[in-house]
Amino acid sequence: MVSAAEGGLKLELTTSGGLLFVREMSRKNRALEAATKCTPPSRKTALEALAQVWRGLKGKAMAFIRESLKRAFSKPYREQQRMDREVQVFLETLPPCHQFVLVASPELGEGEYSCGVVLSAHELLAWYRKEAEMTTIYSWDAKVRRRAMPLWLGQARANDGQVTDLPRSAFRDVRGFIADWVEAGQAHVWCYHCESWVDEVIMSKTDESHLGRLGSSWTELWYCTEGHKMHESRQEIRWIYGNRRRVS
Ligand SMILES: [Zn+2]
Repeated sequence: MVSAAEGGLKLELTTSGGLLFVREMSRKNRALEAATKCTPPSRKTALEALAQVWRGLKGKAMAFIRESLKRAFSKPYREQQRMDREVQVFLETLPPCHQFVLVASPELGEGEYSCGVVLSAHELLAWYRKEAEMTTIYSWDAKVRRRAMPLWLGQARANDGQVTDLPRSAFRDVRGFIADWVEAGQAHVWCYHCESWVDEVIMSKTDESHLGRLGSSWTELWYCTEGHKMHESRQEIRWIYGNRRRVS
């Protein structure tokens, strides 16, 4: 449903079963309604239907109607509507967000984590907001998720001390940043073998190989102070010449 209002004139556009309904809301006594059959509804057919019933409307009012229809059928507007709907659908699949979020665990990714990594929802929210300014997103699903995650995290229950699982698909957003959070002491790491929080994570690199001017790759390993392996992954850096980072 699309509605627009200006100078006492209010339009409501709805589509149902291949029909476009246009309702003029401001005149209660003479409720005007136009319906036109068109699949998909187009601006031209809507305007034709309106012209039939709104012969009395001229000049400014007609220009306003024309402008409203143009906006309602414009691609950016329809994309925005679709985005809002899909963000809502995504949010409905999520549990309530608690104070902390489990951003890495054996269940997330491809088994590279045999520990748990927890970050406060507050810090993850700050990261999502900052990342949005620095990253260009091309995939539609990623755009929906990037729009939804700050809304979800913004509703986090403060100081309840509980942990929520990161939505599985959002692991793609954060996977390249988890080590930074751990190194900076922002994230807390749980060793499942010791069944306790790890004060100091021992990080090491092995099998480093240089790809000339293209970048380099290595295996990253994390251990707890008792020597339990908590993380193993192959890392690769490729230099991309450009200002903005690309994410799927
Ligand atoms: Zn351990």
